[in-house]
Amino acid sequence: MRVKVDKLEVGIMRSFEPLPCPICQRTYSSPGNLKQHLENIHMSSNELNFECRICGNKFKSKWYLHKHLHRAHHIRGRKET
Ligand SMILES: [Zn+2]
Ligand SMILES: [Zn+2]
Repeated sequence: MRVKVDKLEVGIMRSFEPLPCPICQRTYSSPGNLKQHLENIHMSSNELNFECRICGNKFKSKWYLHKHLHRAHHIRGRKET
């Protein structure tokens, strides 16, 4: 019986998974780096400029609003009028 180890080793070496930014698609090697990027680049303003048209909640960024729409109202990025 032969066991091939080379494939296993490759699998271990490729354990790094890039985390893409949901807004600009840049990739980061750790959740902390991605979070910092989101806060620095996409959430630089502390004003709550994004308002939910359904319940009136306000959010710091479009990204948070999208997350809220999806979670609270089950809406996925589509436009409704
Ligand atoms: Zn980004
Ligand atoms: Zn809402």
